[in-house]
Amino acid sequence: MNTPKIAIVSIGTELTQGFTLNTNTHWLSEKCRNMGFEVAFHLSLPDQLDFWKESFQMFIRSKVQTVIVTGGLGPTSDDITRNLVANTFNKTLVYDPQQEKNIQHWFQKRGIPYLETNKIQAYFPEGAQVLENKIGSAPGFLIKDELTLFSLPGVPSEMKSMFQLQVIPELQKQNLKPYYFKDLRLFGISESALESILQSFQFEKGVFWSSLPTPEALIFRLYTSKSMDSLEKAKALLLKNLGPSASQMLISDNGETLAHSIIRLLRESNQKIAFAESCTGGLLSYSLIQEAGASDVLQGSVIAYNNEIKENLLKVQAQTLLNHGAVSQETVLEMAQNTLKIFNSDWAIATSGIAGPTGATPEKPIGLVWIAIVNKCKKTAFSEIFIGNRKDIQEKSVYKALNKLRIEIIEQKNTCS
Ligand code: AMP
Ligand code: MG
Repeated sequence: MNTPKIAIVSIGTELTQGFTLNTNTHWLSEKCRNMGFEVAFHLSLPDQLDFWKESFQMFIRSKVQTVIVTGGLGPTSDDITRNLVANTFNKTLVYDPQQEKNIQHWFQKRGIPYLETNKIQAYFPEGAQVLENKIGSAPGFLIKDELTLFSLPGVPSEMKSMFQLQVIPELQKQNLKPYYFKDLRLFGISESALESILQSFQFEKGVFWSSLPTPEALIFRLYTSKSMDSLEKAKALLLKNLGPSASQMLISDNGETLAHSIIRLLRESNQKIAFAESCTGGLLSYSLIQEAGASDVLQGSVIAYNNEIKENLLKVQAQTLLNHGAVSQETVLEMAQNTLKIFNSDWAIATSGIAGPTGATPEKPIGLVWIAIVNKCKKTAFSEIFIGNRKDIQEKSVYKALNKLRIEIIEQKNTCS
């Protein structure tokens, strides 16, 4: 059985002109894909008949069986989706008195005056099935003809409600095969390095992949309509081919982010962390604080940007700063060790680097960042030269520190009790 194809069309000149970000397509695509559809098209179209007609012909030629249209159901004259759809199926628009009563009732309940212009929302292409709008005034509709077409409101909350309550049950009548996927978040491997590894072996037939580089990790998505077991096998095969460092690279296979995994690992072992940040300016702390549950594991942090603060607040020795400079192994180690004491935490991380665009010296180029990770029985410091602008360097420092911490916490289970 071929995977049924679906097209998602967003109608609204405000979308094509860049006034409104098309969030409906993003949301709907994920839902449709997870249900087992192949999302064959994303289209954003202006409120105009000719572009819509062309697109519709393309759907027919491409054997799309289902189209979801959002937008253009409002009462103003620029909202013409009902006319476009009726025209395409050679149908007239028919007035539905019951629907007008429902719309009137909707206005009454909210104390908003009902205007004659709203009457247009009670017109539907002949033979269409009306889809009730539980939270807004514009009803949607469904036509089953050459293909199945759902017309939903553009307002994201109304579209989502209608999709969940009325579209999903209708779509489930199609004989859909579930779609399985697994997102492997890999740290510290480039797309090109991964590509060369992928050329050395093959996944089982019917297992597909796509890769998405993000600042945090390379997300490697495995997907299939076969079974979850096929994806487990594919994952094992990939990890085997990634070599001995695979387990250090793999952050998660279930969508868990680096920050989430740190919070989980610390919480599971009932441990606390604190930070001393110079070049990352609080970004490291915020990477945890932005997640719910951070309070279970984070004691606090100091943004020790100025050397005086490093010395007076974090008690880094003046001699250390003088002899080695703020961006040095010695300084970050002292920052981290003293932070561990000040906050009475189980772990501490310190960062100090040259985020640019100024401040470089011949020995210390832009992008050089020292990171120290300490606990009560182990201290580690490492440096790296990150490429990019100030923000890139700060972000990369944070992710590098978090990933190293993740590995340290996992390994510490064997070496430090
Ligand atoms: P409409 O149904 O065309 O009257 O749109 C109603 C409201 O929903 C407008 O404020 C639109 O900007 C917004 N909207 C329409 N389509 C989308 C979309 N695809 N994504 C996000 N917002 C949208
Ligand atoms: Mg509109």
